[in-house]
Amino acid sequence: MLKNLIDKFYLDKQKDKEQHRFYITDAGKCGRALFFKFKNVPRKEIEANILRLFDHGDYIHQLIMKPLLSIREIHVVAAEINIPPQEIISGRADAVISDGKTLYVLDIKSMNSMIFNKLIEPKEENIDQLQLYLHYFKITKGILLYVNKDNQHLKEFVVDYDKKRSLALIDSLKNIKKKIDKNIIPQRLADFPGNWQCRYCQFKEICKIAEKGEMDWISFKEKIKLRDNIG
Ligand code: SF4
Repeated sequence: MLKNLIDKFYLDKQKDKEQHRFYITDAGKCGRALFFKFKNVPRKEIEANILRLFDHGDYIHQLIMKPLLSIREIHVVAAEINIPPQEIISGRADAVISDGKTLYVLDIKSMNSMIFNKLIEPKEENIDQLQLYLHYFKITKGILLYVNKDNQHLKEFVVDYDKKRSLALIDSLKNIKKKIDKNIIPQRLADFPGNWQCRYCQFKEICKIAEKGEMDWISFKEKIKLRDNIG
């Protein structure tokens, strides 16, 4: 009884996922998947246990913040802080901290042992997100702190602000937004379906049906007879 009710609670939270703005986590992601998200294309449901794992990630963040708020050498300037409002993207950084000399944006990521043990450098997609935080907060240094969910071991990487990379990420999101507004489905990732994003993509089935290159959304929607189900 409880399992079904708890699963339903999580599965219901997935409904009505229409997106109108980009999130920091969209940085560097596949433009076609973002397009489908904005158009609210029916997607493969994420299973309830995976959704619970996302919630578990929030607890890990609290676990990390607890000592940081007590350590004398570190000052937590702000926690759970939204990036300044602007037209294209929204996001909330885990914290801005200071060691008395330098400000850092802190981004905490949790993962299982298998991924954690292989990690010898920060993941590119995490650097992308952190770059945008650094850009919008006008802070030149960030820390990616990785937590092993299975044994609570930690790894940290200091990342410097890279203006060129941040501006390229913002430009890319602006281009995707133009395509969304003009109803042009962006091309598939060049290494589809081998890219890691494709492996976890909720739109893989629909992406397979579409052509490889850019295509008109309105006629594609017509073709796959989804007009009644998609806004
Ligand atoms: S399957 Fe791959 S290429 Fe297609 S939308 Fe998803 S991430 Fe993009």
